[in-house]
Amino acid sequence: MNNEDFSHDLFHFYSAKVHTRTSRNWVTEEGLAYSWGNAYYTKENTGEIARQAELIKVLKEYLAKHPETDLHSLFKNHFWTDSSGIFNHLSTDYKVGRLLSSLICDAIEEQTGMSGINQLISCGSLPDRFTSFLETTNKLIGLNAENFNARVDQMLCNYSK
Ligand SMILES: [Zn+2]
Repeated sequence: MNNEDFSHDLFHFYSAKVHTRTSRNWVTEEGLAYSWGNAYYTKENTGEIARQAELIKVLKEYLAKHPETDLHSLFKNHFWTDSSGIFNHLSTDYKVGRLLSSLICDAIEEQTGMSGINQLISCGSLPDRFTSFLETTNKLIGLNAENFNARVDQMLCNYSK
């Protein structure tokens, strides 16, 4: 697509230099790659790669129209593939689950610095990637499956990048 912004994959590349393959948690990895890099795929209309701020704006507009949305379900069920349709007008390759992870990773970085970020990257994938991710966010900032919707909704409200 004539677009040479490789920041998403550069993050994965450098993470692999610091963390072992078995310890890397891919819920964290994709969230950080969305936050520190970009959403990897190009938009169908412009060929540009969407960044976090643009996707958050689209998500907030969607949530305003669909206030019953369960953010925890969006996070878990539209992470590896996304059938939510929220970003379809930009690209069908963007994943809202990864966008929500990026928001959580930002909160971890803000409140616990690189120490917390490194714990979240290296929390592994047992018993599964989402459980180990949320066990670690609970330890670091008190975010867990039970308070997920309220806490992440607050993060969306406070978002100001
Ligand atoms: Zn990635």
